This record gives sequence, C-alpha cells and structure tokens, in this order.
Amino acid sequence: MKIVVLMKVVPDTYVDRTLSLETGLADRATADLVLDEIDERALEVALAHADEDPETEIVAVAMTPEPGVTSLRKALALGATSALQVVDDRLLGADVVLTAEILAAAVQHVGFDLVLAGDASTDGSGGAVPAAVAELLALPCATALAEVELTATEVTGVRASDGATVRLTAPLPAVVSVTEALPEARMAGFKGIIAAKKKTIETVSATDLGVDPEPADAARSIMLAVAERPARTAGTKIVDSGDAGEQLAAFLLENRLA
Ligand SMILES: Cc1cc2nc3c(=O)[nH]c(=O)nc-3n(C[C@H](O)[C@H](O)[C@H](O)COP(=O)(O)OP(=O)(O)OC[C@H]3O[C@@H](n4cnc5c(N)ncnc54)[C@H](O)[C@@H]3O)c2cc1C
Repeated sequence: MKIVVLMKVVPDTYVDRTLSLETGLADRATADLVLDEIDERALEVALAHADEDPETEIVAVAMTPEPGVTSLRKALALGATSALQVVDDRLLGADVVLTAEILAAAVQHVGFDLVLAGDASTDGSGGAVPAAVAELLALPCATALAEVELTATEVTGVRASDGATVRLTAPLPAVVSVTEALPEARMAGFKGIIAAKKKTIETVSATDLGVDPEPADAARSIMLAVAERPARTAGTKIVDSGDAGEQLAAFLLENRLA
C-alpha cells in the first residue's frame, strides 16, 4: 500500500509565535520551523501500518515556504520512504482552496492508495484542507478520526463528537484526517537519521504540478486587515470591605457579563 501523509511545516509551538502586521502571515523568520505535531501523529498511523506490512510505502508531502529540506528529513528519519516538497514563492499566503489544489495535484503526482492528514494545523487551524483535497480528488473523506484501522482495501475509524461516537468506513483510495487522540510519533533512532540522508526529497513548483496559483478568475480568500491584539490592562481589583458581592455584581452588569 502507498500512503501519502500531508505534513505542514509550521513555526515551533514551544516558542512565542507572532503574526506579521504587514502581511498577516505567521512570522516564520523569528521561529524555528518544524513538522506540525498533529501531522507527525498521522505519520505514526502510516508507520504502524508499515510495521505490520513491510510492503507499505510512505511519502511525506509538504507545501512549504521553507528554503531547504530540514523538516522533511525528520519524516524520513522516522521511517517515511521518500518526500515531496512544493516550494513556490507564488504560494505565499495561499488560502485553503489553493493549498488543497496544490496538495491534490501533489498526491496525484506521487500516486497513493490512502492520504493521511492532521485534522487542523497548529498555525492556520482552518481544518478544511483534507476535506477540500478529497473533494478535488472525488474521494471518500473520513475526518477527525480518533482511531484508525487499515486493511488492504478499506479504512475504518472512530470519530468522537459531542454526545455520540461515529464509526466510519471507506473503501480505498480515501482521504483521512486524524486528531490528537492518536498516539504521538515515535522517536527517530540513530539508524533512521543516518538512513534519512540517503532518501529522496523531490522538490517541485506549482507549475510542475500543473497548477496556476494566480488565474484571473480564481475566487480566493484575501486578508482585508490585520491588527495587533490590544495589550492587557491591569484589571479591576475588588477589596472586600463587606460589600465585595455588590461591587462584583455591579462590575459584571457594567461590563455586560451578567
Ligand atoms: C511561501 C508560503 C508561506 C506560507 N505562510 C503561511 C503562514 O504564514 N501561515 C499559515 O498558516 N500557513 C502558511 N503557509 C501554508 C498555507 O498557506 C496553509 O498551509 C494553508 O492555507 C492551509 O491552511 P490551514 O493550515 O488552516 O489548513 P488545515 O485545514 O488546518 O490543515 C489540516 C491538515 O492539512 C494538511 N496541510 C495543510 N496545509 C498543508 C501544507 N501547506 N502542506 C502539507 N500539508 C498541509 C496537514 O495535514 C494539516 O494538519 C504558507 C505556504 C507557503 C508556500
């Protein structure tokens, strides 16, 4: 089975992330770029399947502003067979639809039986890319799965929602997105890190994939305005001199919180 894992390269969540007030995009120059942790969980689903079936081929695919291949090397060190990165300055600020067009073309370029993705990235958090990719490829789509079982012909999973648990199944090929309920990715071992150096990372542009990022008739989301969040004020301190309850009630009413 050939599994493509969509892996977004994002600013590291362990450091403060900022938004550029000029472009409205994440300021990637001030943060280390890493593979999104949710996508590492999707990769782990593929790796667990490969543990059972050594014939499994795993391709990590990223549309990334990263000049270089550092992040995808980690996917290879963890056990992915190869990687494909789409690097093209015209994709700066790509919205969900354009991203999905690029990723759909990329997974067709490499070929697949199953596409795995995270349910929502940690920076953009749109949560719509996997479904949009499935729509463009006219494939079944099972989103936000908290459990995934794979056979040679179908994928089955469980989606937990408020008040209900839904069990889904789809014939392959299909697109699946996973949640944080799935296990974290394994650690890369020394052998994996060495092996990754010999594995292939293909780099393509939007044109190589046959996608025009700027067609005249495209409907695209555009950023209209971006503003810095106002600094926090000190707040109101209520000192109890026997009337704290009244003061609190007055504060809530005044601020329309009651
Ligand atoms: C030059 C350049 C600059 C960019 N700058 C930014 C930026 O500042 N902020 C930002 O959020 N995005 C940026 N992107 C990425 C792109 O715009 C977003 O990936 C896209 O809009 C998806 O939105 P989302 O993260 O809300 O998707 P979601 O729907 O939340 O993503 C869900 C899942 O889809 C998959 N996926 C989503 N995007 C990608 C991707 N790019 N590659 C591989 N898999 C993916 C992952 O599996 C992810 O877990 C940039 C891209 C390029 C090429």
